[in-house]
Amino acid sequence: NVTRAHNFNAGPGALPLTALEQAQAELLNFNGTGMSIMEHSHRGKDYDAVHNQAIALVKELLSVPEGYEVLFLQGGASLQFAMVPMNFLPAGKQAGYVMTGVWSEKAYEEAGKLGKAFIAASAKEGNYCRIPAFDEITYDAASAYLHITSNNTIYGTEWQAFPDSKGVPLIADMSSDILSRPIDVSKFALIYAGAQKNLGPSGVTVVIIRRDLLEQANQNLPTMLKYGTYAKDNSMYNTPPTFSIYMVKLMLEWVKAQGGAVAMEKRNRQKAALLYDIIDASNGFYQGHARPDARSLMNVTFRLPNQELEKKFLEQAKQAGFVGLNGHRLVGGCRASIYNAVPYESCQALGDLMLAFQKKNG
Ligand code: PMP
Repeated sequence: NVTRAHNFNAGPGALPLTALEQAQAELLNFNGTGMSIMEHSHRGKDYDAVHNQAIALVKELLSVPEGYEVLFLQGGASLQFAMVPMNFLPAGKQAGYVMTGVWSEKAYEEAGKLGKAFIAASAKEGNYCRIPAFDEITYDAASAYLHITSNNTIYGTEWQAFPDSKGVPLIADMSSDILSRPIDVSKFALIYAGAQKNLGPSGVTVVIIRRDLLEQANQNLPTMLKYGTYAKDNSMYNTPPTFSIYMVKLMLEWVKAQGGAVAMEKRNRQKAALLYDIIDASNGFYQGHARPDARSLMNVTFRLPNQELEKKFLEQAKQAGFVGLNGHRLVGGCRASIYNAVPYESCQALGDLMLAFQKKNG
């Protein structure tokens, strides 16, 4: 019986205990093979089964429709910032970017190095505390694609619904909220997400891509930078990150056992509501960074009345065994990242701490 930390890390984040326990149980002897899955050839049948189960679980849990491929890449979401324009932003076209935080800015900057990118909408004013309304977005019907960041890890804002991109391929960075709720994949041409928040450990990036897009992609790229390479060889053109993909499979089995994306959303709403309700009932002692209509279910960002109290709160939280509550320096204050695998009980414990701290210091 291990004592698990209350892990509010922004990413890599918490993993489900059952997934870790299974990995532990199988570490020295996977499937009676006398080896760890890490020691298996990626061309062997044992790893192959894991690989295909992981892909099948992504498809099942996100209800990925026919006509889409699920790919496993390396290089993190950050490499996707470059691969998306390399593959899909040809000369003579431009791509729109909705700016909802630093990760959107990074994606936009990479696109600008490779082609013509424009800002389709921006929430920068007010330090990214909101998500632009659909009617603020400039749609250029001739543009190559429109890029959004579904959840803004640093600021704690999240798209509550997705825009109809009017025929322009919609591309989303879902690194920090993928599989936290059901989504309509058919609205998107391409979705990418680093696994290390909601899907598993770091080391693998999941890409969901519409097949017809692959045909339009720039074919004149280095092999490893073409989505087509991964689609053609079932993400096994070269050695995939086998252990990371194995952990994704274990985590997705846990998600499935919990009831899938619908159950995740229900639980994530309960977890987030618990903390936001405390913020809202605190008479301004706790101040949320995100505008209420843009609040993230994944990253709860808040300030205290002054930096001294913030320091004191974070110190007490640390003493009490809470991990990862420091806000990002661009927002300050506190951030509780409550990804899929963070238990309700951890949120309850944090809520109790917040209430007790206000009582004493408010
Ligand atoms: N996009 C978002 C929304 C993120 O939160 C992060 C990481 N925190 C990234 C992209 C960058 O991901 P990676 O470290 O996998 O490159």
